[in-house]
Amino acid sequence: MSYQFADRMAKPHRSFVTEILKVTENPEIISFAGGLPNPRFFPVRELAEATTKAMERDGRSALQYATTQGYLPLREYIAQRYRQKKGLQVSPEEILITNGSQQGFDLLCKLFLNRGDGIILERPAYHGAIQAFGLYEPAFETVPLLADGIDPELLAKACQTPGMKFLYTVTNFQNPSGLSYSDARRGEVARIVHRHDIMLVEDDPYGELRFQGKDLPTMRSYLESAILLGTFSKTVAPGLRLGWVCADREVIEQLSYAKQATDFHSNYFAQMVLHQYLIDNDVDAHIAVLTAAYKEQAATMLSAIASYFPLEVSCTRPDGGMFIYATLPGGLSALKLFDQAAEEKVAFVPGQAFHPYGKGGDDSLRLSYSTLDGEAIEEGIRRLGRVIRRNLS
Ligand code: PMP
Repeated sequence: MSYQFADRMAKPHRSFVTEILKVTENPEIISFAGGLPNPRFFPVRELAEATTKAMERDGRSALQYATTQGYLPLREYIAQRYRQKKGLQVSPEEILITNGSQQGFDLLCKLFLNRGDGIILERPAYHGAIQAFGLYEPAFETVPLLADGIDPELLAKACQTPGMKFLYTVTNFQNPSGLSYSDARRGEVARIVHRHDIMLVEDDPYGELRFQGKDLPTMRSYLESAILLGTFSKTVAPGLRLGWVCADREVIEQLSYAKQATDFHSNYFAQMVLHQYLIDNDVDAHIAVLTAAYKEQAATMLSAIASYFPLEVSCTRPDGGMFIYATLPGGLSALKLFDQAAEEKVAFVPGQAFHPYGKGGDDSLRLSYSTLDGEAIEEGIRRLGRVIRRNLS
């Protein structure tokens, strides 16, 4: 049988990350490629207890079909946390529970994108979003991400391209760059997109993982119509596959309709267990443990970089999250380095993965420190430094 795949599958959206993860399956490799939350901190025992409790309390509801928008007490919890932590007035009606924020990307495209409509991405941008958006055959425009957020002049220019639908942004400790938007840049970006009548989609999986600096408002504080994506993947566990979209009721209603067509609703059993866990445990204390560990790992990586990388390699210094992004001096190719690094038993993600259709980013690499101990981070950076130096001389 020769399968006749849809046109949308014909575009070159090879998943770099799948290929890279294959290399890193070798246990001898020190992998800075993964970018997974550290499993050491998954609340296994607490979730087991929450499971028993939720099942004893209301097991039949947990196992029955349920409403699309999601378990109300969980939506209330999320709304209340926004009010408490961010001063953001959100009601449970403005929240839709999804299978991680990844499903939010897909549903938003289903709702808003006609083939050929424009999406503005940061350059570099999160590869999972590029993949989800790419299947809806949009026209991507990319705008450079500077140290304090997306370039405002180039953003204003991109907004003038006909057919632009939305800007996709990760304002806190972005994946892959580790960079964050300053307060001033958040306001400026809100004004620019508003002036051009372009929607704003803010994806904030890492916001709670700040380990230094001042917490900043979400884009919805600057722009009421902004759509905000959140997730429990980084603060609790990604295997639960639970995230949410926060948006105006009108958008949530339409999104719920789109989601119903996909899967009726996200796993209710998991939602009830998660909610039980959240109300029975000190979540802030748990997050403080995570951020303390990531802070130390980031500091170890930065000091190893200072010791072992040539001075010509520049690096970002994240205030939270799980990533450092390195830029190589002129002419060096991250893809070429990747193969040599694999021989030295160290891995990273080449920058191409963070550019639509792999166009661009060959001078850069993403390094994640989240799952490695200090010794492995130091040794991995030493090996990588050796590979880079060899290519420079
Ligand atoms: N957005 C960004 C920026 C991410 O880094 C990730 C996870 N790597 C996601 C979304 C997806 O997270 P989830 O598990 O909630 O689907």
